[in-house]
Amino acid sequence: MIPFLSLKDVTALHGAEINEAVTRVVNNGWYLQGKENERFEEDYAKFIGTKYCIGCANGLDALIWIFRAYIEMGVMQPGDEVIVPANTYIATILSITENGLKPILVEPKLNTLEIDDDLIEAAITPRTKAIAIVHLYGRNAYTEKIGSLCKKYNLKLIEDNAQAHGCKHTDGRTTGSIGDAAGHSFYPGKNLGALGDGGAVTTNNPELAAAVRALANYGSQKKYVFKYAGRNSRLDEIQAAVLDVKLKYLVEDNAHRKLVANYYYDHINNPIVSLPDRLPDAQNAYHLFPILVADGKRDALHDYLEQNGVGTVIHYPIAPHKQECYKEWNKISLPITEKVADAELSLPIGPAISNDEIQQIVKLINNF
Ligand SMILES: *Cc1c(COP(=O)(O)O)cnc(C)c1O
Repeated sequence: MIPFLSLKDVTALHGAEINEAVTRVVNNGWYLQGKENERFEEDYAKFIGTKYCIGCANGLDALIWIFRAYIEMGVMQPGDEVIVPANTYIATILSITENGLKPILVEPKLNTLEIDDDLIEAAITPRTKAIAIVHLYGRNAYTEKIGSLCKKYNLKLIEDNAQAHGCKHTDGRTTGSIGDAAGHSFYPGKNLGALGDGGAVTTNNPELAAAVRALANYGSQKKYVFKYAGRNSRLDEIQAAVLDVKLKYLVEDNAHRKLVANYYYDHINNPIVSLPDRLPDAQNAYHLFPILVADGKRDALHDYLEQNGVGTVIHYPIAPHKQECYKEWNKISLPITEKVADAELSLPIGPAISNDEIQQIVKLINNF
């Protein structure tokens, strides 16, 4: 059996050091807002290339706090519009609607699966305040065109970097340092994953950083003094300690993902399977390896792989605009997004998968 992702195997790669870190925190007796958070925030900010990193409870909260901070700063107001890719994971969109902002869904390109930058300008109105790009599947979604639109219309650029820890733009900047602020998730299955929930915001803006830090800690900057009506959204010391261990190995772990991805690109040759454009290695952190299956055979391929002992997952089977929670969009037509939802299948990829396993997977796909 080849699972889609064995978290047990991923943790075991650095198991001794992770256990040591957890034990250290347990024995220290300090479990929130301490040295482990400080150290991880400093190391992660350095890795991403920003002045500030603020740990928080999860990736959804990280994105929520960015928009909320802009509202508290008077930069955005409820009712303002945020452009967002229609095919993202629902969290990006929830972070916008949770703040009373209005998501404007823009289709992806079928060959990149990232937001189609040719469609963004037409979606901009006088109420547009930001573009939220998502480095979906680990692929760099930033383009110079997006950067110039932000300048031209004075829009904030927010990056959802939940799936792309360690991905770079062509100019060498790491995703998460390109926009005005970025949200990161450390959900266990992500490239940099905790042993539970975790998230962070990175930014170079000191005012935004201070607002996010306060919001994620009840809105408080000083004990028992509350500047904002915030929430409890803190990163545990244990998780920060684990993340700091795993951060040291992130480049190495991502390099293994690249070997796996390159093997898939070089050897998958079933004509009903198409792969997204191949990016230079640095521009893809290969969080997931999405394929598109033609002729309505996606589910059949999923079942066939399952029967042959290979786990695959669909990212994502129902597009956000087709969800019950966004009933008001259910009748909108977004054909590319819907096509991706109908044809996408993610193959196993990760830092712990073996050569033998990926050879078996490719053989099965080519024989389908
Ligand atoms: C995982 C993910 C999130 C949310 O992260 P959580 O830590 O699960 O809250 C946000 N956006 C994208 C694109 C994600 O994949």
